[in-house]
Amino acid sequence: VRIARITARTASVPTEAPLLWALGRHDRALRVIYELETDEGLTGVGESYYEPESQRLTQVAAEALAGLDVLATGALQHRIDALGGGYETIVPAGMRAGIEMACLDAAGRALGVPVSTLLGGAVRAEVECAAYLFHRGEREQATPERLVARAEELAERHGFRVLKIKGGVHPLEDDVRTVRLLADRYPEARLRLDPNAAWPLGEALRGVDLLQANGIRLEYLEDPTGGLEAMAELRRRSPYALATNMCVVAFEHLAPAVRAEAVDVVLADPHYWGGFRANQRMIAVCDAFGLGVGMHSDNDLGISTAAKLHLAAAAPSLTYAIDSHHLEHVDDLIEEPLELREGRFVVPSGPGLGVELDREALARYEVAM
Ligand code: MG
Repeated sequence: VRIARITARTASVPTEAPLLWALGRHDRALRVIYELETDEGLTGVGESYYEPESQRLTQVAAEALAGLDVLATGALQHRIDALGGGYETIVPAGMRAGIEMACLDAAGRALGVPVSTLLGGAVRAEVECAAYLFHRGEREQATPERLVARAEELAERHGFRVLKIKGGVHPLEDDVRTVRLLADRYPEARLRLDPNAAWPLGEALRGVDLLQANGIRLEYLEDPTGGLEAMAELRRRSPYALATNMCVVAFEHLAPAVRAEAVDVVLADPHYWGGFRANQRMIAVCDAFGLGVGMHSDNDLGISTAAKLHLAAAAPSLTYAIDSHHLEHVDDLIEEPLELREGRFVVPSGPGLGVELDREALARYEVAM
């Protein structure tokens, strides 16, 4: 089964409400959908975050990949690596990931097996997911109490046992108060706080003291401060485990992070690490150095979420609940919604990614970029 054609289309799906974070707000998922056609007329789909020039660069990649076996994901990366005038490929990691995703979706369909099988086999049928708690709406009205009300809404409907709080929107005292309120309301829940590096090191040290003074236990503190040096210093002086999807986001960051003992948990992501295979290599490095592995979310829609579930299902050491924006968007681009029960996603069991692209929805949300 060989690659014949690959196309890229950009879709913009609004969020139910503006989602606030340290650096601004999100009001939509802006995603690129990759569609692959094989020489036998089979199709595969992939999804990744928006990147400029995705249509043109996808055509450049498609020309280089034409005729390649859809299972040859190593050769795929190798061919893409060679695209460019300098040392680096002109096809960015997220785009490589979206194309590889479409390849393995098509391969799974051709073989009648789920992508998780192609990744070595699922070790779990369900993947635990954290409730992603954003301050929503206008900043002035986004109080700790309203965030707790959102947690109640999500926990009641979906039974989440892990709560991830997006901090860094308000002063750190407010973040600490939010976490304290949630800890009181859900004493059994595992809590995470992610201020997206909004705190300079001194402020992060103060934040850690304040969290401790309030008797708060956290599963981990995610990117409280920016950069490996500050994270390492904070980690030496903090009782909290540190996670990151900001200072360890590429292979060249792994060795310095290990040497500096900067983090406890690294977040996988099928997109920016460069695809499924790249994530498996990254996870193997984390395993070797005793680092925990979780999974990041970035306004992922359903195809990406399905991809995350296959990757997580086939990664034995990925034991932290994954992050997901799944409940934040007004609509999705897949025909059947993913199943989420008691805080766990059911890993799709159909061939390939196990989800179908909703072409009408894609046409509805497509934007010219
Ligand atoms: Mg994060």
